[in-house]
Amino acid sequence: MNSESNGMANLKPVYNSKITCPVCDKNIEVTKVRSKSIRLIAQDEDFCPYYEECNPIYYEAWICSFCGYAAHNSVFEDASFMDRKLVNEKITPKWSSRSFTGERDIEQALDAFKIVLYNLVIRQAPSFEFARVCLRIAWLYRYKGDADEEKRFLRYAYDYYQKAYSNEPLGGGKMDEYSCIYIIGELARRLGEPEEALSWFGRIISAAGQPEKKQKILPRLLENTREQIQMVRQAMQTGKRSV
Ligand SMILES: [Zn+2]
Repeated sequence: MNSESNGMANLKPVYNSKITCPVCDKNIEVTKVRSKSIRLIAQDEDFCPYYEECNPIYYEAWICSFCGYAAHNSVFEDASFMDRKLVNEKITPKWSSRSFTGERDIEQALDAFKIVLYNLVIRQAPSFEFARVCLRIAWLYRYKGDADEEKRFLRYAYDYYQKAYSNEPLGGGKMDEYSCIYIIGELARRLGEPEEALSWFGRIISAAGQPEKKQKILPRLLENTREQIQMVRQAMQTGKRSV
């Protein structure tokens, strides 16, 4: 049902794909990035990615133009009975139909993510969903060079990842436990809380000392953790706050 495979020359990096909205059941279009156009060139320590051409993060916020339902693309089709009810009662009556398909610039990506965030508030979504969306909004502000807004959303992400870690089952297509611990530590570091950062990173190091736990930790994650611990300690020694 998509046009990725058509043989036109000079293909745009994005294409529209038809899906059914899980809330209003209408056929809608969402914009996806062609896999050929995705070339990762760098990544920050909190996983913020940089791409050569087209940034797929811009397209992760999916919105139904008819009813106003919005979610991260990985869970868009998972709307529950309660989600449908809450969107029908509290979002659709105030929604004015508009299109979100086609190429997005950074401002359009931010708009789309903020509509997702509003949906999460109305739907009382799990903390993990809030954390993921707030982290992406923080990255978009980082790309823009808006450090104040970036920090504000990093703080939200930090709080929500901690809630998700202590109250919600991880795994099942979501983030694994140790990636979650790592990101909490890294967000603490970026927010200028070195003791907190060391305490979270330390959990990964002590888990790595136990063989049955060590096998669940990705080698690269362990390597990153060690590097970040060094960075925090150096920053503490020189008396400078990190970031
Ligand atoms: Zn809909």
